[in-house]
Amino acid sequence: MRKGKLYVFTGPSGAGKGTLLSRLREQDGRLFYSISATTRAPRPGETDGVQYYFLTKADFEQKIAQNAFLEYARYVDNYYGTLEAPVNAKLDEGYDVVLEIEVQGAMQVHEKRPDAVMVFIAPPSFEELAARLRGRGTEDEDKVLKRLETAKEELKHQNEFDHVVVNDEIDRAVDEIKGIFAAHRGA
Ligand code: 5GP
Repeated sequence: MRKGKLYVFTGPSGAGKGTLLSRLREQDGRLFYSISATTRAPRPGETDGVQYYFLTKADFEQKIAQNAFLEYARYVDNYYGTLEAPVNAKLDEGYDVVLEIEVQGAMQVHEKRPDAVMVFIAPPSFEELAARLRGRGTEDEDKVLKRLETAKEELKHQNEFDHVVVNDEIDRAVDEIKGIFAAHRGA
């Protein structure tokens, strides 16, 4: 059976990775979305095992020691990581697997899996990114500022990716991403 392909979507918080991917999710049954582990607290409406596996710091560090992560990173005071076993299992089953992760983790995947397709989702401008992060209302101002500080660093790496999609308009950006999948599937 054909093995699946690994797709890594990265880019700063607020660029719209989640929104774009949730649109694609509705439309493409061949994609498996990896569920990450994190030590950050669940937001209202988030459920363990759905948006994330919510772990304590001790549990997360134990999994680091066990080499359970394909990649992990510290991002704004918390750990985030991709468990390797479920990703490999789905690829073996022939699913294309999608990771939605921050930039340090994406670069680790690029090193370990050079055949992964690397996609950077960029905001139309830094000002727009700040407006979206604040408008979303999921973080207090102190955390928003930390995310924006991190975003400045993350944006410097966009040229290292196979594809850069500017999320200026959702339908257009979704179509561009569909084109990326089609190109890699030889469709
Ligand atoms: P949030 O707290 O907004 O859910 O996520 C913060 C950042 O961590 C986002 O850029 C998100 O894409 C990233 N992230 C989510 N899961 C992972 C993961 O498994 N590994 C890494 N490196 N970053 C992740």
